[in-house]
Amino acid sequence: MLEALRQSGGHRSAEAVGVRLTDGGASLSRGTVYKVLDDLVSAGIVMLADRGPGTALYEIADVWHHHFVCRTCGVVIDVPCQIGSKPCLEGDLAGADIDEAQVIFRGRCPKCVTDGMASRP
Ligand SMILES: [Zn+2]
Ligand SMILES: [Zn+2]
Repeated sequence: MLEALRQSGGHRSAEAVGVRLTDGGASLSRGTVYKVLDDLVSAGIVMLADRGPGTALYEIADVWHHHFVCRTCGVVIDVPCQIGSKPCLEGDLAGADIDEAQVIFRGRCPKCVTDGMASRP
């Protein structure tokens, strides 16, 4: 499972990881794939890239970072975390034990900005 994620690299949906696994001959139900991915996320080995509504994306958790989601093309780009470890934001919630804060940046990716400028008269 971890190998499948590592080999495909970047941000993958559970479906994509599952397809990759079944390619190798193993047959796994979608539920099993989610279950294993969930366990890996809990163990801190795999990171869940939160991009808001839609498919959750999984990736190998090597360096803690945030994500940028392009409103135009939907591409997900890694954004380095300025602190580098979690939680990098202090949540103002009395009595809570916050251990993680993931930020989603939204806007237009460099490509869409360039395309937008190119199509302007
Ligand atoms: Zn874009
Ligand atoms: Zn990422």
